[in-house]
Amino acid sequence: MRSNNFSCTLCPRINKHFSVLKKNFPTYHNAPVTGRGNINSKICIVGLAPGLHGANKTGETFTGDFCSNILNTSLQQSNLYHSNQFYLTNALKCLPPYNKPLSSEIKQCSTYLSNELSLMKNLKVIIALGFIAHTSVLKSLQISLKSYKFSHSSIHNLGNIHMIDSYHCSRININTKKLTTNMLNMVFNQAKKYLN
Ligand code: SF4
Repeated sequence: MRSNNFSCTLCPRINKHFSVLKKNFPTYHNAPVTGRGNINSKICIVGLAPGLHGANKTGETFTGDFCSNILNTSLQQSNLYHSNQFYLTNALKCLPPYNKPLSSEIKQCSTYLSNELSLMKNLKVIIALGFIAHTSVLKSLQISLKSYKFSHSSIHNLGNIHMIDSYHCSRININTKKLTTNMLNMVFNQAKKYLN
């Protein structure tokens, strides 16, 4: 499923938001963005949603903005980038207003994440970037949220798959040092331990 032929109008608030974005940023993608990377890899990295001036502009997940640069650099430093050992996607395939999705939108979009995860036949590790990604992964796998609390660097055993939580690599988290590149590198290095 490529972003440029993926259309979805299931969330009315988000559709309305796109009509505003199309006026304000007419050259941007302004539509749902699906995952990118190697669907046969063992690692799936799940973010929140396309960034306004990142994937929502370029149409490619985790490209073009600050947090994409942080993530891609960390993947390179962890030796995962060049070996193409990852698949990148978001809990929400569309940019929600104020970057804050409603719980109904998270639930609605989790069917797409569920589909992506089911296509990843070699999947061993999911890295959830932030609480919403953590929640969405559990919803997608139909696992009760109560048993798994989000906290940075926690490793959750979900049967055949491990989920590792990380703070999102957003500009605010990086600028306030809530998340450093070293902390993110450590999460990727933790992930590598669960690949076999
Ligand atoms: S957020 Fe997901 S479910 Fe909602 S319109 Fe976008 S692709 Fe569809």
